[in-house]
Amino acid sequence: SANTVSVLGLGAMGSAVAARLRETGHATTVWNRTAAKSEPHVQAGAQAAATVAEAVRASDTVIVVLLDHASVREHLDQVAADLKGRTVVNLVTTTPNQARETAAWAAEHGIAYVDGAIMAVPAMIGGPAARLLYSGDRPAFDAVRPVLETLGAAEYTGEDPGLASLKDMALLSAMDLMFLGYVQAIAMMRTVGVPAADTAKETEAWLAAMLPSGRHLAAIVDGGTYDTGGQSVDFDRFGIRSLIAASREQGVRADLLEPHQKLLEELAATGHGDSDWPRVIERLTIH
Ligand code: NDP
Repeated sequence: SANTVSVLGLGAMGSAVAARLRETGHATTVWNRTAAKSEPHVQAGAQAAATVAEAVRASDTVIVVLLDHASVREHLDQVAADLKGRTVVNLVTTTPNQARETAAWAAEHGIAYVDGAIMAVPAMIGGPAARLLYSGDRPAFDAVRPVLETLGAAEYTGEDPGLASLKDMALLSAMDLMFLGYVQAIAMMRTVGVPAADTAKETEAWLAAMLPSGRHLAAIVDGGTYDTGGQSVDFDRFGIRSLIAASREQGVRADLLEPHQKLLEELAATGHGDSDWPRVIERLTIH
């Protein structure tokens, strides 16, 4: 029945997923490479499968929470026949093309496939802040949606199975660059003895005040003309030079700022010094 779910992988995330499914009344079967990790789940009422094939046969829906794409292929390839007619929801973090590859493999074997990406840490699973992205087979997603909603808000991003991964990677990229910004600011202020905690607080307030500029930047990119008369490439080149100089004066490497300078200099060198600075996006595209 739709209420039977098998979870492959009981690491930090798989354990949280399996526990939540069990707690919300789903007949849950678990499998983990290191079998000992199944024990607490069995004690709480889950079934443990001795093999992946056994786990797959126990349920209509198979949720995969292994480490990476390689471990997914290593274990799913062997049970393609058992998976036929069932739905696989792959929550493993992969690149978009890895998701598409698994989706193509699933289609070849008559397996309904939904790719997912978890915008949460394990402690958030089942809580109000958990959000998960999904892409791929729409009817399959709609059918398992009630199960998936127990993990967190379920957002369907589109038929292209790579979309959930792509959005996951894009948002993680934004987060990564933002937190590197914290590191840069903290490193600069530490040179005069300001504790990281103080700089983090200042940075948080500053970024919060500046966040609406992100949408303004996006409007310029969508407009596509880069001639709104906003902050220009030349203006920003001047600004970034100051940032880099200030950092080095204080004995802090400016490596994190240099890529931005490089993109601005490329634009200026190709005659776009007067353009709105968000034109840097054109330099990011690999032709
Ligand atoms: P863990 O390192 O805690 O667990 C990894 C799991 O993968 C274990 O169950 C491990 O089994 C299993 N595994 C690793 N390699 C293999 C293999 N070759 N064959 C079989 N099983 C294997 O990772 P998480 O649980 O945190 O992460 C799982 C997935 O969830 C990852 O793709 C991660 O990116 C994603 N995710 C995690 C988040 C987090 O905050 N933790 C957030 C968002 C996504 P064993 O016990 O035998 O070692």
